[in-house]
Amino acid sequence: MTTPDPDCIFCKIVAGQIPSKKVHEDDDVLVFHDIHPWAPVHVLVIPKQHIATLADTGSEHDALLGKMLSLAPRLMKQLGVSNGFRTVVNTGPDGGQEVYHLHMHVFGGPRPWARG
Ligand code: 5GP
Ligand code: ZN
Repeated sequence: MTTPDPDCIFCKIVAGQIPSKKVHEDDDVLVFHDIHPWAPVHVLVIPKQHIATLADTGSEHDALLGKMLSLAPRLMKQLGVSNGFRTVVNTGPDGGQEVYHLHMHVFGGPRPWARG
């Protein structure tokens, strides 16, 4: 599914209907700070198109997924994270996914962290 979902909170963030603290934006991807950070730096990398979960992607999304992953080190450097970071994609109910618009968490900054 690629059309915006009117009930999707991340589609509303992409559309600017809900404010967010943006870190990066291009034609395909938006990155913004998580509203409830687990770590000193906690951003969400999302596709602009509505894809519910990682399990809904196929080979046609290879370039998009590659871009999302390769952005992580660049953005962490930009945000001053120099000692490593963690990337997480929660997928589906057993994966603990709460927002059903594909997103990659990127956590960084000095430990201890609140979670993760
Ligand atoms: P999930 O559990 O689905 O992997 O993570 C969803 C994440 O989205 C959570 O870490 C939550 O804090 C974050 N989140 C939910 N609603 C909003 C919002 O309106 N704005 C921002 N910036 N983050 C949100
Ligand atoms: Zn969405």
